[in-house]
Amino acid sequence: MSAVHPIQIRFERFDGRTGLAPAIPPTVIAPADKPAIIARIRKLLKERDAVLVAHYYVHPDIQDLAESTGGVVSDSLEMARFGHEHPGKTVVVAGVRFMGETAKILNPEKRVLMPELEAECSLDLATPIDEFSKFCDQHPDRVVVVYANTSAAVKARADWMVTSSIAEKIVAHLHAQGKKILFAPDKHLGDYIQRQTGADMLMWNASCVVHDEFKAQQLEEMKLSHPKAKVLVHPESPPSVIAMADFVGSTTGIIMAAERMKAPEYIVATDGGILHQMRKKLPGVNFIEAPTAGKGATCQSCAHCPWMAMNGLGNLLEVLERGHNEVRVDPEIGRKAKVCIERMLDFAKTNLPTFKGSGDA
Ligand code: SF4
Repeated sequence: MSAVHPIQIRFERFDGRTGLAPAIPPTVIAPADKPAIIARIRKLLKERDAVLVAHYYVHPDIQDLAESTGGVVSDSLEMARFGHEHPGKTVVVAGVRFMGETAKILNPEKRVLMPELEAECSLDLATPIDEFSKFCDQHPDRVVVVYANTSAAVKARADWMVTSSIAEKIVAHLHAQGKKILFAPDKHLGDYIQRQTGADMLMWNASCVVHDEFKAQQLEEMKLSHPKAKVLVHPESPPSVIAMADFVGSTTGIIMAAERMKAPEYIVATDGGILHQMRKKLPGVNFIEAPTAGKGATCQSCAHCPWMAMNGLGNLLEVLERGHNEVRVDPEIGRKAKVCIERMLDFAKTNLPTFKGSGDA
């Protein structure tokens, strides 16, 4: 293995200024060393009575390990739910910090470990609890609706948590009751829902460093050279990109849309990690990452989340060997945060019987 250095990622703060946060790429593992490391991880998962749950955006090696060891590859809520239903005493979350927290909130009795506790999310970073709480206090007439990509403390301050697959329905439901909404943190997702529902929504200001970089003009050019391709877009993308979509939806929604639409090729505007699952499900179909203006241009992520990329085979093995990197959530904050998650799940049970919780970035 060889050491790698942190990179500094720029993200948009709630006040419009630019923030910086480090992302540390995982140590590089030589292909010849991989089989032994994978075998050791498999053995330790059994010995530790642990299950590996991975997000669609992590490296394909980890996705394959999760699936082949009885774990799951999914979005954050489904990861947490799967971990809850699995009999294992330990849940290992390969994703970013808010996903580990969500897993702990829904599974307070279990041990939740992460290969990397410092794996951030620009939406979470741009929503510090003190400022967000003040903003909520300034608008007591509004129902506070937050996206899954937030800290446990922000969820504890909210009335509802939503994922991207159910956000529109919950906002429409609140709008029909005459409620005004304060929505956080993703401004593009909020704009999209506002346009779909016509609800009175006051937005927090934040964006995802991956989705914000998709470019409409380059997408137009890509479509010209792939005339049969359908365009699948996550709603954290800018409005100009969403406007060109054949389907707009959550990560799981995007995979299901590709299965349904039966096109020979797809241009996909979300983190490129998802293409691994799409190619496995639909072999022979051509999947293309939507353009972020090219690797030599302005993009920081180039359609790959730098914090998701912090999950590697090396730190996954280490966390299983040492049992460190345990996710801890203050029990009182966890209890309050669980209320707004369960409100969404109860709504889904009544209004969307097929809802599986899918939909974060
Ligand atoms: S892809 Fe975007 S929304 Fe998802 S974890 Fe990374 S920064 Fe956050």
